[in-house]
Amino acid sequence: MVAVLKPGTTNEQVENLTVWLEGRGLKVHISKGEFQTILGLIGDTSQIDTELLEGLEMIESVKRVTEPFKSANRKFHPDDSIIDLGGLKIGGPHFQLIAGPCSVESPEQILAIAQSVHESGASILRGGAFKPRTSPYDFQGLRMDGIEMLLEAKKKTGMPIITEIMNANHLPMFENVDIIQVGARNMQNFELLKELGMIRKPVMLKRGLANTMQELLMSAEYIMSGGNHNVILCERGIRTFETYTRNTLDLSAVPMLRELSHLPVIVDPSHASGHARLVKPMSLAAAAAGANGIMIEVHNDPVNALCDGAQSLTPEQFREVAKKVRRIREALAE
Ligand code: PEP
Ligand code: MN
Repeated sequence: MVAVLKPGTTNEQVENLTVWLEGRGLKVHISKGEFQTILGLIGDTSQIDTELLEGLEMIESVKRVTEPFKSANRKFHPDDSIIDLGGLKIGGPHFQLIAGPCSVESPEQILAIAQSVHESGASILRGGAFKPRTSPYDFQGLRMDGIEMLLEAKKKTGMPIITEIMNANHLPMFENVDIIQVGARNMQNFELLKELGMIRKPVMLKRGLANTMQELLMSAEYIMSGGNHNVILCERGIRTFETYTRNTLDLSAVPMLRELSHLPVIVDPSHASGHARLVKPMSLAAAAAGANGIMIEVHNDPVNALCDGAQSLTPEQFREVAKKVRRIREALAE
């Protein structure tokens, strides 16, 4: 971190500031020019509040040269993180297709979808049991019954499962869930993130509706700083001024996040676009952009789905997307 001091700052002020910074564990390198003094702050600056520094009378500007996230930072962990789900790997050169309905609706529904997406190449089954709905009058999910139906589908197909948590008190219900999803609306539920840092189960963290990549990485940092390094990032579209699509898929987040961080990056084209017909082109683009996987909503009867029918693919449409995504992956490998 570099702090530029205002012209006219006295030696005594520089000394006081240096003592204060050294008290926070930093080494201070003072470079005195003819008109300006610059302080180079060396050490762990992640706990320094840049705005507080900038607010000090003698400071003209402050600039970070390293990012405020440490555990998630590729600089300190150059190799890709690979998450091992009993042999199924997420991250690095591995690519996984996650598919399933927005919500688990019945044992028959989840099993039929699980079997069909599995046959088409999906390796992980998704399905919401606790649903974060905008309206309290909408279907809220089958809760524990939904998790049990997912576990039953897992038993019959062998697919690991991912489902969303909304409250840390529900953690015991997630004991046999393979990946815990933190949805966009909870990306900055810091108390929930801290609890997930205390377990060792993989967590997929979805980018918030209006959050920057740095905020997403800082939320990953909340989980990782607790000791849980099994974090997967998910780009699911952000809110912009555009209204033809449900959100705006920020595809540049894929190479950018992979450059900044060693964590796997998954793309969710379903929530990003909101329209089933856009899921295929966006899936192909996500694969081409270097995503470590794609998560797609699939329903056997989209028109009657209890949640997100408009963006859900039929099993047949999913089969076609999965096939084309494989082609893109093959082309990238050439
Ligand atoms: C979901 O994946 O079911 C979901 C609710 O997504 P998001 O949190 O991205 O809106
Ligand atoms: Mn959904």
